Amino acid sequence: MTMMRAALLRGFEQPLTVEEVELLDLAPTRVLVRTKATPFCSTDVTSFHGRLGKVPPTILGHASTGEVVEVGSQVRGIEVGQRVVVPGTPECGHCFYCGIGRPDQCSELFDLGGIYPDVARTADGLVVNAAGCVGGYAEFMNVSQNQVFSVDTDLPWEVLSLLGCGITTGVGAVLNVARVLPDEVVAVVGAGHLGLWAIQAARLAGAREVIAIEPNEERRSVAESVGATRAVVPEDALEAVRAVTQGRGADKVIEAAGPPPAQRLALEISRRAGTVVLSGLKDVSGEVTLPQIPLAVQSRQVLSTQNGNVRMRRDLPAYVRLLERGALDPKPIVTATYRLDDINTALERSERLEDLSGVFVF
Ligand SMILES: [Zn+2]
Ligand SMILES: [Zn+2]
Repeated sequence: MTMMRAALLRGFEQPLTVEEVELLDLAPTRVLVRTKATPFCSTDVTSFHGRLGKVPPTILGHASTGEVVEVGSQVRGIEVGQRVVVPGTPECGHCFYCGIGRPDQCSELFDLGGIYPDVARTADGLVVNAAGCVGGYAEFMNVSQNQVFSVDTDLPWEVLSLLGCGITTGVGAVLNVARVLPDEVVAVVGAGHLGLWAIQAARLAGAREVIAIEPNEERRSVAESVGATRAVVPEDALEAVRAVTQGRGADKVIEAAGPPPAQRLALEISRRAGTVVLSGLKDVSGEVTLPQIPLAVQSRQVLSTQNGNVRMRRDLPAYVRLLERGALDPKPIVTATYRLDDINTALERSERLEDLSGVFVF
């Protein structure tokens, strides 16, 4: 019987509890990973409030990294001792979506109907699931063989942990979805961790101007430190974008904020026939209302993305190399490191926008 410490969400808006739980036996197609680092993601603030349809008791933490310690009898190509990234999305390789080259929508996650695998049992007999099929706020993760990707690098665990959500979503939104070209003007709405990765990717792609739009002053200055040519409050966004585009609007806009007004703003500051990529979500029941003229007559391309439309086997090695050579910089984004017992502090600091990425180290 393997025991581990895990941070449990036993009920919405109740402080998380760090408890000793018993790991359930490993199924033949699953892998046991000793967690090394998990970033606290703002998505989990939303889950904490019960706005993302999670079912307690659950272990949050939907992207992580660690070392393989056990593999099920039918697992192929993954070995004990490997360093692996555990991203928010699996790639089963044989569902409809994997077949059309869109593993970001893999059925193994999105056709579960929100019923996540059970991974542990509490001392008082409750069965605990792993939210998003990961459960990174725990000492071990019992995950599908399709959701672990080995990496060959000496990058520190804290940095590797960012590859499963922040980097893939922010960088993928720019390179895979918006497909930013050299000399374009890019606007990024929201300078949280996703926006800051998107800003870095836009500079890498050769954008002439990268305008960050963010109400929080501290985040605006971080945005400038990672490559934004200007950082402005939302009220000044339209003017700032027009000033560098002869009044047209941005060629590409990445929305990395969540609230519906931010998504509407992303459309408003794009140019005719420009591209808008929406990535944020603040509530499962959220709705966005968009004006028709900019969409229909003016032919804007409104796209959206989950996890940057990445294909992990193709994109992960590239993102690792970009980190290794310093072309992507995690330093300003990792604003704190925590122990598991600090889970409620990390949650509060994320909610108050005091952390960009606070990373749990094990
Ligand atoms: Zn996340
Ligand atoms: Zn699949």
